[in-house]
Order: sequence, then structure tokens, then C-alpha cells
Amino acid sequence: MSAPEAAVPAAPRPNPLQRIWLREIGIEKTWLPAPLASAAGAAAPAGRTASAATPRADGPAASPARAPRPPVAAPQRAEPAAEADGQAARAAVAARAAGADLGQLQQLVQDCTACGLCQGRRHAVFGMGAQPARWMVVGEAPGEQEDRQGLPFVGRSGKLLDAMLQSVGMSRERDVFIANVIKCRPPGNRNPKPEEIAACSPYLRRQIALLNPERILVLGRFAAQTLLGTEATIGNLRGRVHSLQTDEGRSIPVVVSYHPAYLLRSPAEKARAWQDLLLAARG
Ligand code: SF4
Repeated sequence: MSAPEAAVPAAPRPNPLQRIWLREIGIEKTWLPAPLASAAGAAAPAGRTASAATPRADGPAASPARAPRPPVAAPQRAEPAAEADGQAARAAVAARAAGADLGQLQQLVQDCTACGLCQGRRHAVFGMGAQPARWMVVGEAPGEQEDRQGLPFVGRSGKLLDAMLQSVGMSRERDVFIANVIKCRPPGNRNPKPEEIAACSPYLRRQIALLNPERILVLGRFAAQTLLGTEATIGNLRGRVHSLQTDEGRSIPVVVSYHPAYLLRSPAEKARAWQDLLLAARG
């Protein structure tokens, strides 16, 4: 009799989309049961084995995605005057957002001038996706392409995010609503200031309240720290299910993972992102 199943780490039974993702991130042989792994290895293009997880240099032409920010510090304590301004702006935004439905909230965001980021934006990026949504995906702030198009997660990062979602049977049209913590692009993709975060956060909290997702996948250190109110590193936040308390007293499971723009530049981390997706799908 063979060894008990319990002795073997619970391997998922990937569907075809998941197998594409596993092949992409170079860990198909790690995850697939042996017979499937052999078949997958035979079917994989030459060179697309585990070594595919090795980071490669992205030339300028190959990396139009939003450049990764320098390590994001946790929202820092603002100077007293700025903190008071932030609180006032947040209170004003929260008052307008409270009671708004999604359509009204989108209009509020598009018209918003509650912080200085309104001055440099082409478009405020409200978010897009399924309504109601099983999941919410929360990123940090619009990049250049998002600012141009008025949509979240476009370009290479968006394609990668879509592939990640599809690997666990999710799509942004059918199941997922995608939004950012900050709705307007910070100049040069700099980190948002505490007062900007304070001013904009009520929009996201209202979106969460209205969409009432089963769970939230938060991408990137800045978004995770902001949403969870922590200064912990992404390494410390990954790998477990957090809980977000909504203004209505509901507790929503939150899973933290890497931002797709980071994964494009650090493909070796895609294996960890895959684990995060499985955690979110299980959670
Ligand atoms: Fe308003 Fe948020 Fe844009 Fe600031 S970033 S102007 S608070 S929508």
C-alpha cells in the first residue's frame, strides 16, 4: 500500500489556464503531479522549464510598464498642519462619498479636487470590473497608461494581472472589480503623500462597502500597508489571510501579493504570486 496521501503536500489539480500560468512562471514541474508534469514538460517550448523563472533583463523597449517605485515607506506621520489638512480633506470626501451609489461615487471621483493630485491628472481612475464582484483587486495608484486611458491595470501589468486572475478562474469582466488606493496619478509615479492618501481613502472604502466582495487581493507594498494600516513589509504580509473591517462592521478576508509591475521585473517572484493566488482562491 502506498504512503498516506497526507504525507504529500496537497497539490492542486490545475485547470488548463492554471497550467499555462504554471508554465509561464516556470514551476509546472513543482506543482503538477508527476505524470502531468512529464506531459507538460514535453509540451513546453524549448527552454521554458524551471529556468524560465530566472530574472531576465528587460530592455527599455520591453518594459513600457510602469516603472517600479523605490521601496515604499509606510504612510508616514505628517506634520501637524498637513495632518489637519488631510483630516479635513478626508472628512469632506467621506461626507460626499457616504450614501453615494457606485455611479455617483464615480462622478465624485472624476470631479474631485480634494488633493493636489487633481492638478496633474488626465483622468481620475475610478476602477472597473464586475458589479457585484466576488473579488476586489486593489493596487496603489494609476501609472502613466492608466492616467491616459482612465482605466486601472492596463498595458503589460494589466495583461499579467488578467492572466493571473484567469489562472484561478477569475476575470475582471465577470468576477473582479479592480481599483486603486489613490485615484489620480502622482507626478512621476512618486509615492503618494500622507495627506493624499487620507483624502482619497474614503473613495476606496466606499467602493468596498458598495461592492461587498468576498475577498480582496491587494497588490504591492504600498497598497497593502495602506489598506491594512500597517508598516509591515510585503514579505511579512504575504502568506496569510488578513481581515479588513468595513465601516459597516463586516470582516473581509484580504490576501497580499506582489504588484504585476514588480513581477514583470522580477519574474522569479511569480512562483510566490502563484501561491498567493491559491491562498486567495482557497481563503
Ligand atoms: Fe481626489 Fe483622490 Fe484624485 Fe486626490 S487623488 S484629487 S482625493 S480623487
